[in-house]
Amino acid sequence: MRNLEKSRQKLDSAPKLNAKMRLALFAGISTLIIAICILVYIFGPPAYVYENSDWGAWSYTPDYNTTKWNILLDAHSHEKTNGGLLTYGGDGGYLTPEQNILWHISLGYNAMILTDHNTYENVEETIRIAEEKYASKIVVLPGCEWTTTTIHCNLVFPPDAPIESYSYIVPPKGEITNETIRKMINQTHAAGGIVIVNHIPWTLRVLGVNASREALLSGGADYIEIVNQNEWDNDSYKFCLENGMGMVFGSDMHWPVEVYGYTLMNASSFTAQAVFDELKNKRTEVLYIPHGTPYEVEHKLSLAFVALRPLMQIGAMFAYYIDGIANIDWMGLGVFLAYLYVAFGILELFREKTIQRICRECGKRLSKGKRMKR
Ligand SMILES: [Zn+2]
Ligand SMILES: [Zn+2]
Repeated sequence: MRNLEKSRQKLDSAPKLNAKMRLALFAGISTLIIAICILVYIFGPPAYVYENSDWGAWSYTPDYNTTKWNILLDAHSHEKTNGGLLTYGGDGGYLTPEQNILWHISLGYNAMILTDHNTYENVEETIRIAEEKYASKIVVLPGCEWTTTTIHCNLVFPPDAPIESYSYIVPPKGEITNETIRKMINQTHAAGGIVIVNHIPWTLRVLGVNASREALLSGGADYIEIVNQNEWDNDSYKFCLENGMGMVFGSDMHWPVEVYGYTLMNASSFTAQAVFDELKNKRTEVLYIPHGTPYEVEHKLSLAFVALRPLMQIGAMFAYYIDGIANIDWMGLGVFLAYLYVAFGILELFREKTIQRICRECGKRLSKGKRMKR
């Protein structure tokens, strides 16, 4: 009886929310929780924390003709930057300049081009670290990924060119036309550089547009990336063969994983300048590894990631990435909210029934209690 009394008192003292207010509160809280989960999924912390010592023990060398080639180049990689175009660290998380170098060395590369999105901020530091600490193992060429909403191109510059002579070459604001692309190619060539057109299949699939290969060729572009990450571009391969454009492999590494190829070259000496000269001569061949190399380097899981992972997994029900671009599944989100509102309606129904039952029982007990009172 005491319990029933208590329930009645609770009901009496509870703040009076009418059905509309309860619905608004429910809608607000559930939307907020889902929004937080989606945001944590999209902008959440990377999964791993990297240490330079991670890359100490394991290394890999691909199978290739060592009498014909002496350079294994990766034409495309990214690092952690402050400026430029920020992109999501995704499953992994960006590497520092030294870690980028170590990752390349562990996979058997002895040459790499740094190509951050629309920024040259890490170029000097990466080259300095390579020269000071890893000169016998790898050479780094300066570059940038000219990243726009219609095309991505890697610009590569002579290792001895002062950074001021090319660091102004970034995409202009506003619409990117064939004329803008042609101007960028001319500026790059004027600075002694090379233009590589990146991942044409990705651009067509994700951005939906791309200047035609013919237009790029007549505009003066030097190379096409024949393999980007794990994707072989057969149309571009044939186009390069027929039109004398150069071919490269680009890992497009945003976080450390296995790779699917190497750009093979034969440089006259093991220096950045000799590798760049050979690149200018367009004497490259692409080694494609369709199944990917192994990658047996252990990285530490991030505690923040572990703590937020459940929220990220809820967010992943409504948001997804297509090739690095976040999308919201609005239909799925709508259906899930519909479930929630049906559940709310059912709870409301039970609420009414429960209140009625408690009041009825309270009433009964109270009248009994009165009689029992002495
Ligand atoms: Zn790109
Ligand atoms: Zn890239």
